[in-house]
Amino acid sequence: MDLTRFDVIVIGAGFAGLSAASRLTRGGARVLVLEARGRLGGRATAFPDRETGELVDNGQHVLLGCYTETFAFLRDVGALDNVRLDPQLAVTMIDRALRRTRLACPALPAPFHLVAGVLEWEALSWRDRLSALGMATPLKHARRELRPGSTMKAASPGETVEGWLVRNGQTPRIREMLWTPLALAALNQPPDQAAAPTFARVLAEMLGDDAQAAAIALPTKPLHLMYAEPAREYIERHGGTVRTGALAKVVVSDDGDGGGEVAAVESGDERWTATRVISSVPWFAFPELFEREPPALRDLLDRARRLPSSPIVTVNLWFDRRVLDEPFIGLPGRAMQWVFDKRLVFGDEASHLSLVSSGAASILARSNDELIQVAHDELLEALPEVRSARLLRASVVREPRATFSLAPGAPARPSTETGVKGFFLAGDWIDTGLPATIESAVRSGHRAAELCIW
Ligand SMILES: Cc1cc2nc3c(=O)[nH]c(=O)nc-3n(C[C@H](O)[C@H](O)[C@H](O)COP(=O)(O)OP(=O)(O)OC[C@H]3O[C@@H](n4cnc5c(N)ncnc54)[C@H](O)[C@@H]3O)c2cc1C
Repeated sequence: MDLTRFDVIVIGAGFAGLSAASRLTRGGARVLVLEARGRLGGRATAFPDRETGELVDNGQHVLLGCYTETFAFLRDVGALDNVRLDPQLAVTMIDRALRRTRLACPALPAPFHLVAGVLEWEALSWRDRLSALGMATPLKHARRELRPGSTMKAASPGETVEGWLVRNGQTPRIREMLWTPLALAALNQPPDQAAAPTFARVLAEMLGDDAQAAAIALPTKPLHLMYAEPAREYIERHGGTVRTGALAKVVVSDDGDGGGEVAAVESGDERWTATRVISSVPWFAFPELFEREPPALRDLLDRARRLPSSPIVTVNLWFDRRVLDEPFIGLPGRAMQWVFDKRLVFGDEASHLSLVSSGAASILARSNDELIQVAHDELLEALPEVRSARLLRASVVREPRATFSLAPGAPARPSTETGVKGFFLAGDWIDTGLPATIESAVRSGHRAAELCIW
């Protein structure tokens, strides 16, 4: 067997690359996956904590019931049990006045489950609750927009999420308690910056026919063990090869006429060939894939370089005892918008809390000590009972390029096919219509795999 020749080479082993490679091996292709880092998983991975040895995620990841392709991928690689999906959307929130309430959607068909949940939600006055009805028409339009060939637009491209919500009569209180936490979690950008159409798309998918589409799913294992290692095993069992520590470069032959064809992939002094190559690296790593810039990709490379990123900051806190009574709680209106108890999510192998700040550009440059102080103070203020517990250790994880920016005016996202023959794109930044999420990555991976199976 020629070990330098494959049917498809996939570059990057995050959700996009591993879902593409799994689909391809399932279809019978001989696949090589090249990952630059020593660990699989990309932006959804975990590492051992320096002092406790506990596996710590690079940031809490939340899935939604509407992540249909992600669940299909997890099922394919035998990892579906590594995620726990709630039956319906249910979240506990502690507002800035320290009032603890629960938004719980009953088992009704969508969208009545959300309407009923909001109408019952004690965090809101009646005026706030009724303002939610103002979203009925835009959300109906967003659902219609999902239909193939639809020209319906639920929100205009130049509009921010905040502008869209205000235009549709959402009160400041319902924005602070419901829409802003949802938008920050889904888009990783403050609502006064993120574009409305992508948020409308997320809501349309959450309000799918099945009420469970809006429910939250949490990984029950550290991220690389949750999906990446099972995917590696699956790919290798089906005759594929997964290489880590392999920083790949793509060689494109120039046809002299502005086009080109993929010729080889190199890493160090190794060289492989394939008729199809899938890049599943993120926008910020894409320009580095080429030693010589292929003329056919000039516009794409320019857009990748201009695409701004948006950060996420996570503060992990270890206490001397269990302090939460549920796996996660929303802390709207604070720097750290959610707290997760990894002990309640992972079981006894974990003992830390993770406090998450999405859209964290304004706090990214603060020192670790300052970030830990903010997280600790906000936690103690929201949950005074934690004061009796002793803080044993704290750590900070910064992901400056967690997601790409969804601000109006950002460069157009690329499609799967490129101007180079045999060269395809996957990754959360491909034009799936979804924000930078696991589901966008997996949909792009599956799409690229389908185009490669000839
Ligand atoms: C802290 C944090 C929290 C998040 N929370 C959520 C959440 O709650 N829900 C959600 O849905 N999404 C969340 N996301 C987003 C989600 O993680 C990403 O959308 C998804 O993981 C992107 O997958 P990907 O495969 O497209 O890219 P990546 O995961 O970035 O994978 C690309 C891989 O390519 C590799 N690579 C780059 N260049 C090369 C090269 N030249 N050769 C070989 N390999 C290369 C990289 O090392 C990397 O492993 C979060 C992200 C972060 C950072």
